[in-house]
Amino acid sequence: MDRRTFLAALGAIALKAWRWKAPETEPFFLAAPTLTGSYPYELPALPYPYEALEPAIDTQTMKVHHQGHHAAYVNTLNKALADLPAFQSLSLEELLANLEKIPQTHRTTIRNHGGGHWNHSFFWPILTPKPQEPSLALQKRISAEFGSWAAFRGQFLDAAARLFGSGWVWLVKTPSGKLQITTTPNQDNPLMPYAEIRGTPVLGIDVWEHAYYLKYQNRRVEYLSAVWNLLNWERVETLLG
Ligand code: MN
Repeated sequence: MDRRTFLAALGAIALKAWRWKAPETEPFFLAAPTLTGSYPYELPALPYPYEALEPAIDTQTMKVHHQGHHAAYVNTLNKALADLPAFQSLSLEELLANLEKIPQTHRTTIRNHGGGHWNHSFFWPILTPKPQEPSLALQKRISAEFGSWAAFRGQFLDAAARLFGSGWVWLVKTPSGKLQITTTPNQDNPLMPYAEIRGTPVLGIDVWEHAYYLKYQNRRVEYLSAVWNLLNWERVETLLG
């Protein structure tokens, strides 16, 4: 290798290194206020005891769901990010909103397990052991978009019931401020570039079988009506802003 070839090769390496750094400095789309702290992520404590949602959601389901499923999402996400130092300083919302910029070797893992961590961190506080009525202001705002409160409830639970396989049903505030009901497969969510409707989730229900199978087996609709009565409308209203 002569001097010129050597310098050209060195330049190519330097360019590669510069490109590799690019994700850190490019502006990221800020999808939502952060919900999950920063890397290394930790399993958040439930905002109520495991048995608090009985009888609608049984204690064993809550324990397996939180200590088993959610903990595994957190651990696998951390393992993947350990390999990606350039992405460790991003919030989880930024990572999920920019999945296409994550190296392909780790993208699916971050999509599934980062999504899993975000979705469950969102889900626990959207439930409450103290049954609540939505405020009149919230009912009015939602009725304005869906015709009536009953129509909204019907459309939301119907979307959840019809979702094929595992996934989530969401009420999303889109960037234009419109409210829309949508579902996502697996651990996807509306922050991700793959979502049919992107926006900030203000309500979401886990429709994976692991969320209800021990108590309800295949009776998803029964689980959905029980969960509806546990929804924390105060939090929905706060998230709506
Ligand atoms: Mn789940």
